[in-house]
Amino acid sequence: MIGERVMSTRNFRGGIDAGGTTFKCGIMDDKGNIVQKFCVKVSTPDETISSCINFFRPVFETDRLSSFGIASFGPIDIDPRSSTYGTILQTPKPGWSLTDLKTAFGSAMGVPVRLDTDVNGALRAEMAYGAAKHVDSAAYVTIGTGIGAGVFANNQLLAHPHHPEFGHIPVNRHPLDSSFNSVCSYHEDCLEGLASATAVHARAGDPSELPQDHPVWDVTADYLAQACRSLFLTARLNRIILGGGLMLAPHLLSRIHVEFVRQMNGYLGMDYPIAEDLICTPALGDDAGLIGAILLGGDAEH
Ligand code: ZN
Repeated sequence: MIGERVMSTRNFRGGIDAGGTTFKCGIMDDKGNIVQKFCVKVSTPDETISSCINFFRPVFETDRLSSFGIASFGPIDIDPRSSTYGTILQTPKPGWSLTDLKTAFGSAMGVPVRLDTDVNGALRAEMAYGAAKHVDSAAYVTIGTGIGAGVFANNQLLAHPHHPEFGHIPVNRHPLDSSFNSVCSYHEDCLEGLASATAVHARAGDPSELPQDHPVWDVTADYLAQACRSLFLTARLNRIILGGGLMLAPHLLSRIHVEFVRQMNGYLGMDYPIAEDLICTPALGDDAGLIGAILLGGDAEH
């Protein structure tokens, strides 16, 4: 009898960092440690979801799973009041449009499933355990193929259950960048069109192979500093975390600090120590999305 009681204790939380190319699955124990991880390469929705469910089967079939969260690539419906909550919306990703992640995982596992965007997941994790652990307000900006942001202020996620479309804010063109064709198909002057990894690649080739002294870095740092300035001046955030593939270039963060301080021009007493405290890279690295997904799963709906 005692053994059965122990077996039925729901002391594990599950979650998936659902990226466009990989679904990273994880199980967290009641002490907050990730005890098991499993990566599934994204193929068709059926194959991908089945592989993930098989990984979690030992915990949900023994009633040890208490909650389940997914931090997903978009566009996705994250409004808990919507009839299509948890469904991938129209996406160029073949076969994935209208995939109902919430129902697929919820019906298989028998626990409530909560979903949010990948950036809100990463932000949730960084605020719990990482670079924004002791602050009241923060943003997580991912700078990769595209640019997106999650913002937490006044005890809530900004724009929830929608999400900011921060990648498409306008920026002022850098003087050396007047002839570049934006990679955004909607805007000639938006952040994503001019400063994403896709934009850097279009100008100069693979960002991971570019030398530090390539002029594209100065142009990109200028745009990203403008983005930080907009975020900071609008919401007076305590921390702005810059993540995503482009930020793996080790020299980029310090260039952004230099540009940010220059652009602020002393306003609000902005100097390097303040800028370095304000703008940083993620502390949790690759696991931020997964940890965030699991934590979101345990959060109450609001
Ligand atoms: Zn745009």
